[in-house]
Amino acid sequence: MYYNHNSLIFLNGKMVKANESVTDLYSQTLHYGYGVFEGIRAYKTESGTQVFKAEAHYERLKKSCELVKIPFNWSVSELVEATYQVLKANNLSDAYVRPLVFCSPNMSLTRPNEVSVMICAWEWGAYLGDKQLRLTLSSYCRPHPRSLHVEAKVCGHYVNSILATTEAKDNGYDEALLLDCDGYLAEGPGANLFFEKDGILYTPKLGNILPGITRATVLELADKFGFEVQQGSYTPEDLWEADSAFYCGTAAEIIGIESVDEITFRKDWNNSLGKQLQEAYSKLVRETTKVSRQ
Ligand code: PMP
Repeated sequence: MYYNHNSLIFLNGKMVKANESVTDLYSQTLHYGYGVFEGIRAYKTESGTQVFKAEAHYERLKKSCELVKIPFNWSVSELVEATYQVLKANNLSDAYVRPLVFCSPNMSLTRPNEVSVMICAWEWGAYLGDKQLRLTLSSYCRPHPRSLHVEAKVCGHYVNSILATTEAKDNGYDEALLLDCDGYLAEGPGANLFFEKDGILYTPKLGNILPGITRATVLELADKFGFEVQQGSYTPEDLWEADSAFYCGTAAEIIGIESVDEITFRKDWNNSLGKQLQEAYSKLVRETTKVSRQ
């Protein structure tokens, strides 16, 4: 599904066949989750393939590496260029792009001697589907910001996400909603949360969540529409009283939430602020912002 015998990936400056590229089983990333990644989308636009907010994603990759002391040996523009190369080589336009920075063999808990970067891409539909989601509050909380750099997209952090999604699905829900370690609403396993109440949008403030690039785009769009948005610490009770809610993320894009633990939002998604943002987002990512490189 992710690759076939023709697929090419970018690995340390070269295009190589996906099915012939290997990694060392003694990699620090494999053993300790000590690596950093990104999730990016490319869209087909009138003037060719455009990678949405490519620079912002590679800036976050760089920042994530800096926060966890993994050397970042590339420039943002070089990796953006490499992303277009991968898309072109695999003849992809609407695609999901996955850059990964991973470490050399090192069984001790020290800095890696050598790091690698790979970028792969594949066709991927909406990650959480297109139906409104039935969520459940997770029994897991997001990692404590004094234990880990929660704002970094570090491989190992995603064990928390996998546990939460698996628990939610095992209990018959589409996805989980996690609180932070203080009991305030945080985010989904792979998406940020917004909710609407009396015409105002609310979203958990930065600090205990991943600073989503889609979240930032939603804030820009809301500003353009003149929607009021508040960022703060909110409780599950605040959410029960909301009129509507949605998740946003690169893979999930913008997706409405039908209910949380069987408590259904009262507003029809089609009349919500989220729906307007969903449509605007879908248009924005397909807009031609610069001359295509393909
Ligand atoms: N929170 C988490 C935990 C995520 O993994 C993601 C996906 N990267 C998001 C939020 C949304 O971030 P973005 O909009 O940058 O994809």
